[in-house]
Amino acid sequence: MTSSTDELVQKAEQALALIKSHPDGIVQSELWKELGTDSRTCSRILKYLEDEGKIARQAFKGNTYIVKWVKTQKKIDPMLFMAGEALLPCVACTEECDVPSCKMLEDWIYELVFAEME
Ligand code: SF4
Repeated sequence: MTSSTDELVQKAEQALALIKSHPDGIVQSELWKELGTDSRTCSRILKYLEDEGKIARQAFKGNTYIVKWVKTQKKIDPMLFMAGEALLPCVACTEECDVPSCKMLEDWIYELVFAEME
């Protein structure tokens, strides 16, 4: 990553925190002022956040937009809990957990390795 990309990502994180602090959204022209940046830079930051699916812009008045945070929930692939036909034992485990010495987990990891080899 280049330093300008690092800077963009860093500014985007600041912008996202600010956007999140306004549950009803924030007008774009207010956002760039609060960020201490200019309109052009703010547009680049918002384009980045939009492409990441983290914000949405809605037309407001004239050429301005209201910027809102888009809450996303990542979908988990249930197949990640499977090793071949074997379900990850932790899913329904009632044992007192001690991961380093858990034989059930160790067996499942072996199943996973074998399933990956097939
Ligand atoms: S690591 Fe073992 S003891 Fe811990 S939750 Fe998973 S199966 Fe249960």
